[in-house]
Amino acid sequence: MTPSQMARKRDIHDLSFEEISVYIAELSDRPFRAGQIIKWLYEEGVQSFDEMRNLPAELRQRLNGDFLFDPIVVARQVVSVDGTIKFLFDLTDQQKVETVLIPTSGRVTACISTQAGCKFGCKFCASGVGGWVRNLTCAEILYQVLHVRQEARKHQRRLSHIVFMGTGEPLDNLDNVLKAIRIINAPQGLGIAARHITLSTVGLIPVFEELADQGMQFELAVSLHGYDDASRNLLMPINKKYPVGELVRACHEYIRKTNRQITFEYILIDGVTCTDEAAVKLGRLLKGMLCKLNLIPCNPVSEFGHKPPTKDQIRLFTERLDEVGLHYTLRRARGKDVSAACGQLRLSEKK
Ligand code: SAH
Repeated sequence: MTPSQMARKRDIHDLSFEEISVYIAELSDRPFRAGQIIKWLYEEGVQSFDEMRNLPAELRQRLNGDFLFDPIVVARQVVSVDGTIKFLFDLTDQQKVETVLIPTSGRVTACISTQAGCKFGCKFCASGVGGWVRNLTCAEILYQVLHVRQEARKHQRRLSHIVFMGTGEPLDNLDNVLKAIRIINAPQGLGIAARHITLSTVGLIPVFEELADQGMQFELAVSLHGYDDASRNLLMPINKKYPVGELVRACHEYIRKTNRQITFEYILIDGVTCTDEAAVKLGRLLKGMLCKLNLIPCNPVSEFGHKPPTKDQIRLFTERLDEVGLHYTLRRARGKDVSAACGQLRLSEKK
């Protein structure tokens, strides 16, 4: 079988570097061609094989026959007063995904989607409202990153951080997400340090072991949002399957295996999640753990009717956290005026 018969016509960004090398090795006696292709794809970010000028015409033709470029296309782009840019992309099958570019003084972060829609139906999140449609391919994940990097370059900024906190559950599409992460992380790829890449999860406990076994230093963020089963059941249906006690045990095990800290994300909803009882129980739940608690004032989504607490209420709650000895960071809301919370733009487009 010839290499072209073996390779289904797929997007070139769906190939790992090893797969590109194997393809080239079967085709020519010039292994360095693989490196040249990778450089064009990820250093230059070209959109066609014809732009790969140092490849022989014959090889470019061969590549054109075997693979394609199927880029995602910007359907809408909204710029916030704080510099946050939100992109809504059209995929080939008319699905839409959103990606956010968040520039701050010290870093430039891309918030990336991993699925079209979401299965998990958290009761504050716009991404779950229309249900789940499908996983994104590795190429669709990388196209988001490449587009954001290009946009950052236009503003003379370097993309430095990646958070998988857009629509979807990264651990529910782990193979494609890990494949993309390896390319994002590789020095010949996008060269972004693993420590600057964050995977955020609703807490799919059975996948934690596989994650820990990757031996990569990416950050793990766990969406906690509740302080016991009753409170977490209300906001996150997944808690019925993986109750908070089991989740915390799995986190301890992950930390033991990887020696890495976990970030717990905790949404602040007026009258719901920032009570005195919540502070006390969070203290008991997380005390002594190698973790950070990241407080996120909720972005209101009309379907759910939640409100963020006022500044004073947040101050009171954080004073309680101080009393129980929990360290926390308070996330500043960014891109509020451009519906930058998870899934909001996609949802508004659907309506
Ligand atoms: N499925 C993954 C990643 C996507 S959500 C996860 O659940 O972690 C990324 C983060 O945004 C999660 O912590 C999520 O709870 C939070 N989020 C979603 N909707 C929000 C809203 N309306 N306001 C504030 N945070 C929200």
